[in-house]
Amino acid sequence: MLKIIGSFLPKMTDPVCNMNVNRFDANGGVYVFESTKYYFCGTGCNKAFQKEPKEYLLGNKKIEM
Ligand SMILES: [Zn+2]
Repeated sequence: MLKIIGSFLPKMTDPVCNMNVNRFDANGGVYVFESTKYYFCGTGCNKAFQKEPKEYLLGNKKIEM
């Protein structure tokens, strides 16, 4: 039986603004942090995440779009 796991789905969540991002067409590119790939809706979110990745992953910081 085939199992579909999350990483095969094209829709990923931008950790900065929580928008859905298509991982095959991420406008903001990709950033790898602690062996996990994150996808971004725009370069602004990507840069913000690179500055303080943990703040966004812990939910301490968020950008509303
Ligand atoms: Zn975003």
